[in-house]
Amino acid sequence: MNLLPAMTPAPSDTTIPTLGPCLIHSPLHRIGGVDAPFKVDAVDRILYHSHLLEEGRDVSSPSYEEAGPREMVYFDPPKTTVGIVTCGGLCPGLNDIIRGIVHRCHHQYGVARVYGFRYGYEGLVQRFGHTPLLLKPSSVDQGHHFGGTMLGSSRGKQDIGEMVDTLEDMKVDILFVIGGDGTLRGAAEIAKEIERRGLKKAIVGIPKTIDNDIRYLDKSFGFETAFDAAVQAVKCAYVEATGAVNGVGLVKLMGRDSGFIACYAALAGSNVDFVLIPEVHFELDGEGGLLEFLRQRLMKRGSAVIVVAEGAGQHLMQTSDETDASGNKRYGDIGPFLKDRINAFFKTRKTEVNLKYIDPSYIVRSVPANAQDNVYCSRLAQNAVHAAMAGKTNMLVGRWHGSFVHLPLDLVINGRRKVDPTQELWHSVLECTGQPAVMK
Ligand code: ATP
Ligand code: MG
Repeated sequence: MNLLPAMTPAPSDTTIPTLGPCLIHSPLHRIGGVDAPFKVDAVDRILYHSHLLEEGRDVSSPSYEEAGPREMVYFDPPKTTVGIVTCGGLCPGLNDIIRGIVHRCHHQYGVARVYGFRYGYEGLVQRFGHTPLLLKPSSVDQGHHFGGTMLGSSRGKQDIGEMVDTLEDMKVDILFVIGGDGTLRGAAEIAKEIERRGLKKAIVGIPKTIDNDIRYLDKSFGFETAFDAAVQAVKCAYVEATGAVNGVGLVKLMGRDSGFIACYAALAGSNVDFVLIPEVHFELDGEGGLLEFLRQRLMKRGSAVIVVAEGAGQHLMQTSDETDASGNKRYGDIGPFLKDRINAFFKTRKTEVNLKYIDPSYIVRSVPANAQDNVYCSRLAQNAVHAAMAGKTNMLVGRWHGSFVHLPLDLVINGRRKVDPTQELWHSVLECTGQPAVMK
């Protein structure tokens, strides 16, 4: 949404008056008795313009191609066949994206047909026998009221050549691939094979990550719904904790490598005492460990809530080298591990604690998208269709600084966005929980 007013403010219009020089050291320099590991001086300025098109702007700065409809398109709509596939784990909004693509393709462009491939990349491999669905607006109309994906999903590596054979056999011109990092790596491989065969087929990704961990994008679909659902779990943990003697509410949330949901859920509820995320190392034992800080918090307040992201504290557990069908490492289960360690710690001190453990993971990922995500998914789908019809390929659509943009797949698939413990988000979490910046 472009909300820029017509008149650009002059630099002098944006100056904020101050009462005088600041001569007193902020207490934020020290958190929990140690120097804060982040800068507490917000001195950067935020650029007013996010577009480079007007005269006089420095176009050598890094920038993305803007998404949106093009006057001229590459594919002739009545002769165009479209495919959609959803892969990997569930995430709120998948059905909204499918619905959005089908609607735009039929109503705005009038494409010949849209196929929905079933059960992830398996649906593109004919020997699995998953017959593709012919998707009409009427067949997807109510999809956004439900969580999950109406096409089904799967993990597990599939042969790239066989998948491209299917696209050739079915004369699919455009394939929309909705999925996470693994899926998008697969999409980039498919695009490469298409190029190697000299075919004219567009591969357009729509990144799915409940963890909001896609690099170079400011928001992924489903994230807001997911953390809404996570906040409900944290509220329940608070109720449980405050209703018992030395009550501890322990909630495990999604976040294998990035702790965004844990951070936002804690900030939204404002009644969390400790947030544990993969990006911030912590220890359990010793004077500076979590357990001792928890003991102090219980003495002071009589209850505590801990939110732990699933990828946090992996070094504390013995983990195996096992992987899932897609080759992702299987993580140790930090929730029950922490529960046992907390109970054992207080048992040896003969102190009563009443710990309630809540693991809402499947509830968080399978709920229908909320109204914000309904709108966001619909606009992502719309822009994905515009890009593909214009013959763009090996790319994904996303949002940056509030604008919808095109990004090359290769830029995004080699790495993840993480919570930066030196930046403002983690700073806010420490302020809101009052937990020590260092626990080791
Ligand atoms: P999630 O967020 O749930 O992890 P994901 O898309 O990363 O989503 P994966 O199960 O890792 O989920 O991968 C989805 C699909 O992509 C699987 O079928 C997997 O085999 C395939 N895939 C992953 N990496 C590659 C790759 N490098 N080349 C081809 N296919 C891949
Ligand atoms: Mg993945």
